[in-house]
Amino acid sequence: MDLYEYQGKELFRRFGIPTSEGRLATGVEEARAAAEELGGQVVVKAQVLTGGRGKAGGIKLADSPEEAAQHAAAILGMDINGHVVRKLWIERASEIAKEYYLSVTFDRGEKKALFMLTKEGGIDIEEVAANRPDALARLHVDPLEGFQPYQARRLIYAAGIDNPDEQKQILSIVGRLYDAFIGADAMLCEINPLIVTPEDEVKALDSKFTVDDNALYKHADIAEMRDLVAYPPEERAAREKGVTYVKLDGDVGILGNGAGLVMSTLDVIALAGGRPANFCDLGGGGDAQGVVDALEIISADPQVKSILFNIFGGITRCDEVARGILQALGQISIEEPIVVRFDGTNADEGRQLLTEGGPENIHVESTMLDAARRAVELAA
Ligand code: GDP
Ligand code: MN
Repeated sequence: MDLYEYQGKELFRRFGIPTSEGRLATGVEEARAAAEELGGQVVVKAQVLTGGRGKAGGIKLADSPEEAAQHAAAILGMDINGHVVRKLWIERASEIAKEYYLSVTFDRGEKKALFMLTKEGGIDIEEVAANRPDALARLHVDPLEGFQPYQARRLIYAAGIDNPDEQKQILSIVGRLYDAFIGADAMLCEINPLIVTPEDEVKALDSKFTVDDNALYKHADIAEMRDLVAYPPEERAAREKGVTYVKLDGDVGILGNGAGLVMSTLDVIALAGGRPANFCDLGGGGDAQGVVDALEIISADPQVKSILFNIFGGITRCDEVARGILQALGQISIEEPIVVRFDGTNADEGRQLLTEGGPENIHVESTMLDAARRAVELAA
């Protein structure tokens, strides 16, 4: 889960990493009030889950509340790399003498946390890595040994930071960033730029913070930061209903029970010459409400041209799923053809319920391959 800059900075502050004071604003008047409260020069920053906001015109300095309001009006609603700006972060402007870069991420190859530090901040780190690899200092942290201050010193020297004032502050920031990385179960914590002010004060001017989805259950406060508005409507509904849903880019919507069966259904669709639009995993359930939820989510995806239900009845009984399908179709109207393949517990009863009581757009097939072929054909 990616956090917005303002959320990442909130975590930075919690772990003692210096940032500038700011306010969140969702409207022009709120932005004006925030600028008034902060006083002096402020920076108006688009909050979107993508980088390069500066280049796209989503970051502007303002000398007065009036100017902040003008920038807010221009930035709200702006499209930055496909992300519409709905929130602004209004921050007390900083004077910048230098822009550095500091990040910690997880190096899967080495199975260790990896710090990167360079004096060439402010720009894309990929650019620095490609053009000036020597300027980029790297340091792996052994998970058993844990993070040690001498390692941070080595990182700082390797990056060529020689001002003792800066060294001292960055040493502390590196340690705190590691604490934040571990404490929040992050996959990435990036500060770009990490600035040095003319008074030699070092602080985080930006934040990119990605938290491991699988650890969110441990961090209710961070899980709450998820902004459902940033997701397409069907993904939002899936998250709200706790349905496993993955968006793909073909035109056959897939519903199955169990990850293994769903994965093989994707393969069979490909074998039949089609492309899946998405998939939902009903898991071990398959009760009527689960089917209603999943069908609603799948059919809300405008790319879906046909739907394939692939159910293997084990503990889940196929007649129960059939009832779920019929109940779902009584509650929501689905125009797309629905192909159903049942196997396992009560498969015959399930098929019978659908052929006798189902609407015209239900097609019952008895093998997985036939069902996939039918679904692909009907999507064409
Ligand atoms: P990004 O473009 O999405 O990475 O957004 P950043 O938060 O990194 O800001 C981009 C650039 O805007 C920074 O590298 C700075 O040059 C500039 N900027 C951001 N905040 C301030 C500020 O408080 N004062 C000044 N002078 N420039 C800023
Ligand atoms: Mn940045």
